[in-house]
Amino acid sequence: MSRTVAVIGGGYGGSSVAKALDTEAEVVLIDPRDAFVNAAGSLRALARPDWAGNAFFPFDTLLARGEVIRERAVSADPRGVTLASGRRVDADYLVLATGSSYAYPAKPEADSTAEALDALRLSHKELDASARVLILGAGPVGLELAGEIREVWPDKEITVVDPAPRLLPGFRPELREDLHRQLDELGIRLRLGSAPIAPPATPPGRSGTFTLTTGDGSELTADIWFRAHGVSVNSGFLADGGLTGLTARGQVPVTETLQVRGHEHVYAVGDLTDLDEAKMAGYAMQHAEVVARNIAAQLRGERPTAVYRPAAEPMILLPLGTRGGVGQLPSPDGPDVVTSDTVSAYKGTDLFTGRFAELFGTARS
Ligand SMILES: Cc1cc2nc3c(=O)[nH]c(=O)nc-3n(C[C@H](O)[C@H](O)[C@H](O)COP(=O)(O)OP(=O)(O)OC[C@H]3O[C@@H](n4cnc5c(N)ncnc54)[C@H](O)[C@@H]3O)c2cc1C
Repeated sequence: MSRTVAVIGGGYGGSSVAKALDTEAEVVLIDPRDAFVNAAGSLRALARPDWAGNAFFPFDTLLARGEVIRERAVSADPRGVTLASGRRVDADYLVLATGSSYAYPAKPEADSTAEALDALRLSHKELDASARVLILGAGPVGLELAGEIREVWPDKEITVVDPAPRLLPGFRPELREDLHRQLDELGIRLRLGSAPIAPPATPPGRSGTFTLTTGDGSELTADIWFRAHGVSVNSGFLADGGLTGLTARGQVPVTETLQVRGHEHVYAVGDLTDLDEAKMAGYAMQHAEVVARNIAAQLRGERPTAVYRPAAEPMILLPLGTRGGVGQLPSPDGPDVVTSDTVSAYKGTDLFTGRFAELFGTARS
């Protein structure tokens, strides 16, 4: 009996499913990149080019038996996938795991690690030459970027602008208070509740002085800016409707067993799904466990019974450099606001690189 599982997208969710099923099935992992990108490390990769290579894990070492095809999927149907070259991959099971795209530098634009590292080195040089930095977007990505820049350049003027009036809505007030206190101590300025009337005249990530006006009429001059807002779901390859309809946000509708609605052998994980939760790597990896269990059950001729239920409370780990930051984690007594030492220990120190070195078999013993 044929047992091919095609996993489309090798991010947090896809790489985890592919690895988990490598001994159970004929796994084919499809991704245009040559490496898994640990997006949590992207911002440090910009601030510290000597560290940047840590955010990339070549796919070569992920699977012992399975195949990795370095291509982009352009269409999918219940029996397989069509790739950009026109090549067809037939499969008994499909796992859709193409995630989402963030504005550079939060996720790289280039598919090759060498080109992505070149882009980071270039942006670092431009940043080094700029005294005043503007970050558009005060969500976790914009604030983490500000923290990474501050740790490398203690004297730069850093301003973060956002139209929203409050930081991190939905999290505990103590967390927000601590965040404001730490940003103040780091000398990171916030301009909340007012958006620029027009984007800066220079391209993002390039050195060049500009002045912009915000909605409240005030002016702001800086020498470089970065976009830290806007996420788009990578579901274009499903737009032909050959496999599934998409929600208004371009997401894939899934059941609690993470099967794509209307299909027994097609699953989806990660940012691509329409699950009602924040889009996070941690959740994508939990989805991967559920999907791997369900496909393994089906391969044994059993029913897929593992289910995924989104967490009731939001969680976050938001480092400000290697030592600072704020966090909120679930606990039996409800959401727990954690110290910057905990944030640093769980995320800030290595940005999860140790965990992915284990997954990719590159950890030093
Ligand atoms: C700076 C930053 C920090 C973050 N920190 C955290 C954190 O601390 N904790 C947390 O839980 N989350 C964090 N996140 C969120 C996390 O990165 C996302 O939720 C996660 O990337 C989603 O994983 P995924 O597996 O769905 O897809 P992705 O990681 O987006 O991977 C998708 C993969 O699919 C590939 N792909 C795309 N289109 C195609 C196609 N047509 N054919 C084939 N392959 C394709 C891509 O090349 C990519 O490799 C952070 C994000 C950023 C940007």
